[in-house]
Amino acid sequence: MKTTQMKQVLLVEDANFFARIIQSELSKAGSFEVTIARTYTEAREKIEDPNYHPFLALVDLTLPDAQDGEVVDLAVGAGLPTIVFSARFDEKTRSSILNKGIVDYVVKDSPASLSYLADLVRRIEKNQRTHVLIVEDAHTQRAILKERLERYCLQVHTACCGLEGIEVLRQNPQIQLLILDHGLPDISGFETLKKVRQFRHFHDLAIVGISATPSAELTAKFLKSGASDFVAKSCTPEELILRISQNLESLERIKELTELANKDPMTGLFNRRYLHDQIEQKHRVLAQSNKSIRYAMIDIDKFKQINDRFGHETGDQLIIAIADRIRDFLPKGAVAVRIGGDEFCVAFPELDETSCRAFLSELRTSMPITLPGHDDQLFNSTISVGLSSGNDATLSEALRSADRCLYEAKESGRNRIIAA
Ligand code: GH3
Ligand code: MG
Repeated sequence: MKTTQMKQVLLVEDANFFARIIQSELSKAGSFEVTIARTYTEAREKIEDPNYHPFLALVDLTLPDAQDGEVVDLAVGAGLPTIVFSARFDEKTRSSILNKGIVDYVVKDSPASLSYLADLVRRIEKNQRTHVLIVEDAHTQRAILKERLERYCLQVHTACCGLEGIEVLRQNPQIQLLILDHGLPDISGFETLKKVRQFRHFHDLAIVGISATPSAELTAKFLKSGASDFVAKSCTPEELILRISQNLESLERIKELTELANKDPMTGLFNRRYLHDQIEQKHRVLAQSNKSIRYAMIDIDKFKQINDRFGHETGDQLIIAIADRIRDFLPKGAVAVRIGGDEFCVAFPELDETSCRAFLSELRTSMPITLPGHDDQLFNSTISVGLSSGNDATLSEALRSADRCLYEAKESGRNRIIAA
């Protein structure tokens, strides 16, 4: 059984009511386990406990035994990313608190500030696994930006010119956001931007342009060249972080939508659209360099009878169970798709016929699948499979070839694999 790992948050707050509200907001926001300390002394005990490892501290400025924000120094000093909240922030408190190296501060004055806090905690937790690249030639500016982003728990890479930045991006496909200076010593920010967009698209890399001399023209030019956003270097640390967070959030929404559009909701496998989009693209690249890609068409035998005998819902359960089994046995690098109805397709990039057959045989002989509640019934589910040869020039040719083999498998008695 899968267990979700709870992420520990230390909440230092003496007001019971407020502590409970935050605890409840955070449990709604994700799998966060909130430990409450009500005094400075309790907070210190928690922080010094070697068995306690929170990823974040949320601290109130005023506590019964430390009324002047001492707990901020305690948490920051222990290396904990720290968010401060307080009932009121005057300008002096705000700047002195920000200078202590905290992540952010929140004024607890409305329900909106609570949801801001919950979003912030969720963002920071994700940031620990989010990679960002700063391309900036000025050493001091680069160091300042790096420190700001690391404070926000992001994984920061740096480069001091356009070409180095491109190289870092090529080496680190996990980078999701690029902060790109306009004035660079080798190739300009625009040129860098255009080159980056040739291999990293909007849906998997956000680019925030920065400039010491921003103008409306520059902003428009950057956005037209493929940037997602543009900010002045003189902007406040808060604005920069907010823009970065917004861009990361949009990127995640796009990823979720793309995933939804490419997945079959019933089985969780990829769908036909993905096959004719992403896999077709992969096919083209492999075919151009004379590399093989095989396809297996897998169809449940006499599935209509199962529907008729046991009902459509049981038919659905069988489709899901077979999809799960395909996923469980799938060789590394292979991709499984539900074409529709009781038909599946598996793409095997650069896998030889023997290995494809080994997977398909294992799948075929693992039938029939018994479903809960149907153990005692004759549930004789088998599958027929057609396998293409691997050297078809296009996806459509390969699918036609696999389909012909599948037809032959059906015609010659079902429950078998026929290869082209
Ligand atoms: P064959 O061995 O020749 O493949 O026979 P078959 O009965 O399996 O024939 P076919 O593959 O053409 O039948 C597919 C049936 O699957 C027809 C349709 O009613 C049913 N079907 C299509 N989509 C779904 C679905 O999502 N759920 C269920 N339960 N049935 C579906
Ligand atoms: Mg069928």
